[in-house]
Amino acid sequence: MDDGRLPALVALRTRGSYMPCRSVDPPVTFPAWCTCVTGVNPGRHGIFDFTEQAQGDYAIRFLNSTHRRVPALWNILSDAGKRVCVLGVPGTYPPEPVNGVMVAGFDSPVATSIDRSFVHPPELYERVRAWRFADFQEHDIGEGWHAMALERLLNKIDDKSRIAVELFQSEPWDFFMVVFGESDTVSHHFWSFHDPNSPRHQPGYEQAICNVYERLDRAVARLIECAGEDVTVAVCSDHGFGGAGTGVVHINNWLAARGHLSFMPARESILKRAALTLTPQRARGALFRRFQGMATRAESHSRFAGIDFTRTRAWSDELNYFPSVRVNLKGREPDGQIARADYDAFCDDLCAEMESWDVVSRARRREDVYDGPYIDRAPDIILKLALEDGYSHSCIRSRVGPAFRRLQPHEFLGGKERGMTGNHRPKGVLFLSKPTPCGAACLEDIAPTVLSELGVAGPRMDGTSLLDEYVEISETALSGMARPAGYSADQEREIEGRLRALGYFE
Ligand SMILES: [Zn+2]
Repeated sequence: MDDGRLPALVALRTRGSYMPCRSVDPPVTFPAWCTCVTGVNPGRHGIFDFTEQAQGDYAIRFLNSTHRRVPALWNILSDAGKRVCVLGVPGTYPPEPVNGVMVAGFDSPVATSIDRSFVHPPELYERVRAWRFADFQEHDIGEGWHAMALERLLNKIDDKSRIAVELFQSEPWDFFMVVFGESDTVSHHFWSFHDPNSPRHQPGYEQAICNVYERLDRAVARLIECAGEDVTVAVCSDHGFGGAGTGVVHINNWLAARGHLSFMPARESILKRAALTLTPQRARGALFRRFQGMATRAESHSRFAGIDFTRTRAWSDELNYFPSVRVNLKGREPDGQIARADYDAFCDDLCAEMESWDVVSRARRREDVYDGPYIDRAPDIILKLALEDGYSHSCIRSRVGPAFRRLQPHEFLGGKERGMTGNHRPKGVLFLSKPTPCGAACLEDIAPTVLSELGVAGPRMDGTSLLDEYVEISETALSGMARPAGYSADQEREIEGRLRALGYFE
């Protein structure tokens, strides 16, 4: 902005206000957007990630919009008779029958493009079929990857902004929301080019992140131009970004070294990588949706298969974006080792022990991070990893070995689950086209701000409106909630056979 390269955002800042916007804790895409559109923390909306641990099993299940426990802006506004258009918000698959249009966001990290099932109403599909997510793999970053990825990201912004402008102009919407994920993808993979001080810096693509931001600024400009002066505009991010250094943290190896976890003699941890890399990229998103049971088993196997739970008190999912620890609790986990009576003391002791590890800056119990009826869906202990000279460590799945190591130069380009060059940070941004007395915001404030601006009352929220007063209603009879989606045993068998035929499980 200071270099004059983002004129639309600067104009928005001048016209109204610009402030930091705190994400959810930790700053994870699915729960962050759910918080943005519901006004409540993950403990109340129930979405902590795109997966959660299946109850009573060492397995995960994939989450989607049907698992969100509170109404989103589009439910409340639809019920109030407002016309809404919602494009590409993560965590909205399958799309909800809103009063207007919805193109769902990515339902899984392997989704690449949309099909008819992403669109409400379905007959709108032909008009939006060019809508894309990251239509390239992000695990193996080799020769030529960056040139290809940057070009596709820039083209995607153009395609999406063209679709957004067309829909925007098609009727006078009361509420219009579009999410561009390209700033996230480019920051994950190009940070070490962008930042000359990064310990992983290398020449090439120095302008990639700025170029994506410039292209996004143009998209914002086109939408604001269509909207005109009278429409209130907000631009917000679901989190901020920062660089990743060379440190690699293997939480399960640390737990093993401290006697909290035992590995199986022979570890099988290659399954998921094989599944993801051997499947043609374009096929993965469709495969995931059609064959979700098998995708669930692959992800579960990758996370749990190497651990001997009969000799494990605590383990970690080892997710880079969500460092955390789960307790192997009797009566909750099949091979639980910690008795209910000892649970509190064990958690408190383990938090203290983890904080004595120099790569962990905070270890907190979930009750101290979240608030609401669904906190039992979160991991028991939420970790905040320490920064090293401002750079984050990468949390990578353990493969028996040290608890901490350094990336070697040949690993500096990273890739998903291999230590990406940029990672999420808690502080994002918010631009509002109107002045507000508030100097800072959090994601919980966005939904009440939108509702107060539209003069619509809504349910209780954790955030407060940054503009007019938010009117809370005690009871709402909202539609479109809790529509469980599952697969029959026959479907799963069919799925398994087809997945095997496609090499998904080799
Ligand atoms: Zn991200």
